[in-house]
Amino acid sequence: MTAQSRPVPGDKDRLAEIHLQIGSRLAGQDHRYTSGRRQLVDVLAHAGQPMTLPDIVAADRNLAQSSAYRNLDVLVRCGAIRKISTGGDHAHFELAEPLLGHHHHLICTSCGAIEDIHLDSDVELLVDQSLTAIASQSGFTPIHHSLDLHGHCADC
Ligand SMILES: [Zn+2]
Ligand SMILES: [Zn+2]
Ligand SMILES: [Zn+2]
Repeated sequence: MTAQSRPVPGDKDRLAEIHLQIGSRLAGQDHRYTSGRRQLVDVLAHAGQPMTLPDIVAADRNLAQSSAYRNLDVLVRCGAIRKISTGGDHAHFELAEPLLGHHHHLICTSCGAIEDIHLDSDVELLVDQSLTAIASQSGFTPIHHSLDLHGHCADC
């Protein structure tokens, strides 16, 4: 397992594409892609790691906590942003997988910290094939997998 930075930060074309996709997702559910929602997506795209609401508000002084929370909720419900609950005080948020790319998480059960991890592509393939084989024994048709590792982070 290796921790890698995301492909999003600093890539203007990629970010423009993400805004375009989210805009059409929202429009499809009769929501407007307001400047407040765009700002949230900008913060998450540049963060490179999942963020809590206090993280997000701290990263952009123009974001008010109450409206940021409501906007996050809309973006989560339309599938643009993924909410990761760790059982800690604050849920974490990141761009949804179709936008960000497939990956897994290290979740600290002590402090709630979350780190993105990417498996080497051959390992990822093996994991997916193993899960698909197990699923087929139950007559289950897999669509995708999500796999997070829970434990204690370096600080805990
Ligand atoms: Zn920790
Ligand atoms: Zn993640
Ligand atoms: Zn995977």
